[in-house]
Amino acid sequence: MLIVQKYGGTSVANVERIKAVAQRVSKTVKEGNNVVVVVSAMAGETDKLIGLANQLSPQPNERELDLLLSSGERVTTALTAIAIESLGHKAIALTGRQMGIITDKVHTKAKISEINAYKAKDAIQKGYVVVVAGFQGITDEDEVTTLGRGGSDLSAVAIAAALKADLCEIYTDVDGVYTTDPNIVPEAKKLEKISYEEMLELASLGAKVLQTRSVEFAMKYNVPVIVRSSFNDNAGTLVTKEDKDMEDIKVSGVAYDKNQSKITILGVPDKPGIAAKLFNAIASANIVVDMIVQNISNDGKETDISFTVPKTDSKKALEITQSIAQQTGAKKATLAEDIAKISIVGVGMRTHSGVAAKMFDVLSSHGINIMMISTSEIKVSCIISAKYTELAVRSLHESFNLDFQK
Ligand code: ASP
Ligand code: MG
Repeated sequence: MLIVQKYGGTSVANVERIKAVAQRVSKTVKEGNNVVVVVSAMAGETDKLIGLANQLSPQPNERELDLLLSSGERVTTALTAIAIESLGHKAIALTGRQMGIITDKVHTKAKISEINAYKAKDAIQKGYVVVVAGFQGITDEDEVTTLGRGGSDLSAVAIAAALKADLCEIYTDVDGVYTTDPNIVPEAKKLEKISYEEMLELASLGAKVLQTRSVEFAMKYNVPVIVRSSFNDNAGTLVTKEDKDMEDIKVSGVAYDKNQSKITILGVPDKPGIAAKLFNAIASANIVVDMIVQNISNDGKETDISFTVPKTDSKKALEITQSIAQQTGAKKATLAEDIAKISIVGVGMRTHSGVAAKMFDVLSSHGINIMMISTSEIKVSCIISAKYTELAVRSLHESFNLDFQK
């Protein structure tokens, strides 16, 4: 088999951890596999480099920032290759450029456009373990780019797709994907497998084991991904195509997200074009809107619109909304930061009815008020007051029988 193994920051945090990575790679090779290793920077290193740049400038040039940040992964790539060689294997370290990872020109959040993996393929054929720097690429004008925070996951999945690897293992410091956050619900169970779609909903909802874009990529190219711990030999969670027995389970996981704020614009004149104006202005400021709810106007004259944005953008979004309120004759705009989004996710929802109703029942039986609701085919999300987050997660987890699920 050809296996891509990606090791995150905590898995290469120091020399001892890098030795452990080399041991695991060595074992995998001895079992008869070809291995391509993708590494992140040592834990905390990327933040440290950003901190240094920020001491010199409040807004460092993004081109230079990318060059700076890419150095973190270079360090671990070379060290890991050295460690693997010292165990008697042939190993070669490659930068993103040497791996042929071509990206667009958007510094700090570049997208991969193609991978010219001939150098890696050649090395694999000659019996080398190839160790690649994650998180980085190169434009067709030879500029170094990075793929956005957590981007090494994407590097690994994209490399697995380009090399047609049999498996992409993502090694991290947790055992896999859980039915919910074990810090809130100690009974949370590790899932044996989960579909790409469910994983996407959970990842974008704040169950951050895998970077969202890497899951999208894995789904598009059908790369089987296993999330597992580099600190033990436990089996991990397989992220794969949906299958029949996944459908039997109504809810696979309960997620929460406390990083959103709610903005409400009150007394908006009920006429065409206002929502377009508002959300165009928000989008122009590069703010990503998640949920939107517009109330029915009771007198046909005015209505209220609420929407959620990431907490980091809430002040900016409020200012924009206030100015749109003024321009359009709306009454006012308000901001609520003490909210949380609670979601239940499961492909089984496609074939089972009453799942949303049960969620609302559970919340109401605990006196939790629902401020906004949104649904997709495989997800129901509710905005509630942040102070009820733990209670909501715990009671939903129990009510949907996840405490007992295997
Ligand atoms: N080192 C980068 C970061 O901290 C990329 C990664 O770890 O995936 O975001
Ligand atoms: Mg990571």
